[in-house]
Amino acid sequence: MLDTMTRTAPTATIVGLESPRMHAAPIQVDEKRMINCRADVNQLEPIKYDWAWGKYNDGCANHWMPQEINMGPDVILWKSNGLTDDERIIIERNLGFFSTADSLVANNLVLAVYRHITNPECRQYLLRQAFEEAVHTHAYQYVIESLGIDQARAFNMYREVPSIAAKAAWAMPYTESLADPHFATGTPENDQRLLRDLIAFYVVFEGIFFYVGFVQVLSMGRRNKMIGTSEQFQYILRDESMHLNFGIDVINQIKIENPHLWTPEFQREAIDIIKQGVELEYQYAVDTMPRGILGLNANMFREYLEFIANRRLIQIGLPEQYKGATNPFPWMSEMIDLKKEKNFFETRVTEYQTGGSLSWED
Ligand code: FE
Repeated sequence: MLDTMTRTAPTATIVGLESPRMHAAPIQVDEKRMINCRADVNQLEPIKYDWAWGKYNDGCANHWMPQEINMGPDVILWKSNGLTDDERIIIERNLGFFSTADSLVANNLVLAVYRHITNPECRQYLLRQAFEEAVHTHAYQYVIESLGIDQARAFNMYREVPSIAAKAAWAMPYTESLADPHFATGTPENDQRLLRDLIAFYVVFEGIFFYVGFVQVLSMGRRNKMIGTSEQFQYILRDESMHLNFGIDVINQIKIENPHLWTPEFQREAIDIIKQGVELEYQYAVDTMPRGILGLNANMFREYLEFIANRRLIQIGLPEQYKGATNPFPWMSEMIDLKKEKNFFETRVTEYQTGGSLSWED
């Protein structure tokens, strides 16, 4: 079936690599489109999608690197008897999941999504996001190395631990289908394939699959355990919340420009994709904390996952699926919404403003 779709699709070209034509007029803002744009995608100005350019600038203003965070107290605690077996499982499984998860996200961006988003300000953010995914993979590698965890075991967990493998395996078909060099957007079927990938990766993978791990590790930090690891995760969570919001904006803008793609059947499929994500992430919660720990238990994670899934659904214009779900971890929003003040663990200034974000009028 996929072969049929590929054959009927327009010829695959790499948008942005066309030869420039002499004496062609500058691009007009009305010519810009999220997908299937026929105008020059190398001209950033005039900007049409301010939300994309704004997120690119916000991402740059939030720049951080893993080596800036002190891992000393974590190394001492990890090598002492100060953690229970359950706490060690939480740290190891989350490092196992995340150490390869952000590579999958980066590869999806660079090898599958980027080629088909035909807008320079969105591509500018995608390039920033791709670098942030590299920083996140670096952060997990840095924590694994600092703690002296067996690297081969950690990086291979996505093949060996069933609840981790299930999440990675679930996402792969969405990216593989777009990474095919013969794939091109331009038919309703193929444009829907792109939308499916965006929902699977931005809304589910980055918007649901990361959140049990974020809550678990940040909970330990709140109890003054593994504070360096927790701080690494706090920076990553801040970046990830922007990745999610960018993905939601992209999905909604594609919907606005291509309303024929958002059929009732496609909406049902999108709801199903998100519900599958909730179930897989719940299994991950059970697998990472079989006995409950730190005042958390698997039932609280089901409630939390249903709560965030409802929010994601509404954000892309779909109805809530989990009536009455509430947030058992209201402190999570404080972890994301940090502004110009010392962060929770007070080891560095979280609002890492660089020269590029300063106003010359001040
Ligand atoms: Fe991300």
